[in-house]
Amino acid sequence: MTEIQKLDRIAINVRSHRLLGQLLTENPTLEEILRNSKNETEVVVGVREWIEKSLKDREDAFRFYHARNANRELFEKLEWRDYAIIRILDYIDHAGKEYPDLNLHGEIAVSNPLRLIWLAVTRGTGGAKPGFFIDMIMLFRQLRGDSKSPEYSPERLQEWMDRFPFGMDPRIVKLREENKLRIIRVLMDHISSGNISSRRYYFDQGISEKEKMEKMQQWWEEHHFHLHFAVRSPELLNRMLDHSLDPDTMKILKEAEKAGIPFFVNPYYLSLLHVRVPYFAVGADLAIRYYILYSQQLVAEFGRIVAWEKEDQVKDGLPNAAGWILPEGHNIHRRYPEVAILIPDSMGRACAGLCSSCQRMYDFQSGHLNFNLEKLAPGETWDQKQKKLLQYFEEDSQLRDILITGGDGLMSSDKTLTKLLDEIYLMAQRKVERNLKLPEGKKLAELVRVRIGSRLPVYLPQRISLNLVDILKDFREKASKVGVCQFLIQTHFVSPMEVTPESSLAIQRLITAGWTVTNQQVFTAAASRRGHSAKLRKVLNDIGVLPYYTFTVKGYMENNSGFAPNARVVQEQLEEKVAGKIDEQYYDRIRGFPEDASSMVENIEALRRFSGLPFLATDRNVLNLPGVGKSLTFRMIGITRYGRRILEFDHDETRHHSPIIHKMGKVVIIESKSIHEYLDQLEEMGEDRKDYNGLYGYSLGQTEHRVPIYDYPEPDFQITEEMSNLEL
Ligand code: SF4
Repeated sequence: MTEIQKLDRIAINVRSHRLLGQLLTENPTLEEILRNSKNETEVVVGVREWIEKSLKDREDAFRFYHARNANRELFEKLEWRDYAIIRILDYIDHAGKEYPDLNLHGEIAVSNPLRLIWLAVTRGTGGAKPGFFIDMIMLFRQLRGDSKSPEYSPERLQEWMDRFPFGMDPRIVKLREENKLRIIRVLMDHISSGNISSRRYYFDQGISEKEKMEKMQQWWEEHHFHLHFAVRSPELLNRMLDHSLDPDTMKILKEAEKAGIPFFVNPYYLSLLHVRVPYFAVGADLAIRYYILYSQQLVAEFGRIVAWEKEDQVKDGLPNAAGWILPEGHNIHRRYPEVAILIPDSMGRACAGLCSSCQRMYDFQSGHLNFNLEKLAPGETWDQKQKKLLQYFEEDSQLRDILITGGDGLMSSDKTLTKLLDEIYLMAQRKVERNLKLPEGKKLAELVRVRIGSRLPVYLPQRISLNLVDILKDFREKASKVGVCQFLIQTHFVSPMEVTPESSLAIQRLITAGWTVTNQQVFTAAASRRGHSAKLRKVLNDIGVLPYYTFTVKGYMENNSGFAPNARVVQEQLEEKVAGKIDEQYYDRIRGFPEDASSMVENIEALRRFSGLPFLATDRNVLNLPGVGKSLTFRMIGITRYGRRILEFDHDETRHHSPIIHKMGKVVIIESKSIHEYLDQLEEMGEDRKDYNGLYGYSLGQTEHRVPIYDYPEPDFQITEEMSNLEL
């Protein structure tokens, strides 16, 4: 007997029986088809005929269903009921297909929801769980037109947003001041007793407690202090949190330590966690808490985590998953024709903390990225290697955008960063000079955009020192003369509670240097609560930050606890983010924002006032595909017995890709959590399930168009069509 046959014999539980009864009572036609069918094929044929006959007037649904490449315009025409029609037809088309479920280490999942219902009706088996049946009940209600299509209500959105305080609220600032003093006292004890020693941070003999406290307060302003005293063990973490972590959490953290998951929480970021939860901020720090505290699933999976990003798995001399040939080593990553990522061999390989849902958790398994900051300092050969790597950008026909990241692009020392920026400037200059000698149509793309990916404005805003600002400013001035016109820091705020006076000052400094700051939010379960992302967009706009991406959590079972289903990402886009949709009449105006970065706060404010928007929804909600690029173009083609959704993603048709995508198929993803489990989790966080009505209905998505702030400027010459460094 095969595994699938064994599963088919599993009896459904009492709750599933009740839900099945409800499904049949609500849908007499479906019941009739099921009872009159001798086998699953007859069920599938019967349901298809029923839908095609009774709903044939829903032309848009059928047009979308048949479209090989649907687009946003077609998507926006769909009515609520159409989603259900398309989904059931897709279920039928994919019935019986098998998919490796990487959440379960490649175990085969078979999707055949109508068969599961038929087995339940005729034999009481099939093993489908309540989460599966609830999803089906909702689907057929949507099909019958019995579930109200969700609507956007500005008043409701405001109420949801108001639930989340932000880090500049004076009451929160005061609490954080208390947190800071508590942490400082613990560290003072450690330094005084010699438990932690440092050549840089020590107390002279005989100094008073008051003097020690003054010194600690001064050191708190230095980013080195926070890196040096970052917490690396669960015990110290709990002590700094005034022993407020419950025994279950501590057990998981100790197991994480045993499993080899590094801890690295710097004192500043730790001070953002509440130990004394005030009435006005209950649950407000959950999104931050999730980043620091590891989950049971992560601990269980650590050691056998599978890499999500296929294009980052590179073998020397061979093209990556996107077809790009890269220089030796692992310093350059590339998905698209226009942009490549540069990761220096420096402290930039680390971050100022470890986010629990980081995609690099996969790399941490080998133990070589364990926050040994001193060992990460660039070696003697780095200068030469850096030149060689930049030659790749210089000689490539299409690259016009460089993204310095890591880890964290700003973790590198000022000296390393200055050298790197100097080399980039020289490379850009050489590229311009080379182009002078090339005929029209043969010229190479010149460098127009430089980006640094960094979460330091959030994790460790003290790093954004005046010296760093001078470095960035100087580079901007110089590089502007060789055609670079967009200078961006891509940061990563996940919660409005991370927008503190310190991070706000850091952003202000970056803006003063003429750099645009954009944000990539990760849509974790805590960050996915109603209004949370909308509030984040608003407070980020207030300090001059433009939202860039809202990312679904990547990864498999290791990130299960933080995962919010893609249905919620679409719901957020259509019911909350829509409040900040920028009318196309303002596109010309916003296109120039990055070139006038130092006026960003004023420009954002003026546009919000003029257009009456609470925030500018300049971000796209997307998933980083485990293939090539980002997309939210998907259709739900199946569902597992547990109610976990099977989604088929297509590439984002709105942007320029490596030609390899024409050869690649669609990407199938099995979500690690059912909608039912997700709603249970939200309830645990104090949310009202009713606020998420309609969530089950979001079974497809279409990637949004990019707002023109993020367009590359058009060159005034013709770039060659040839693609170098590509092997298909
Ligand atoms: S800042 Fe980014 S790279 Fe660093 S730990 Fe967090 S998610 Fe990972």
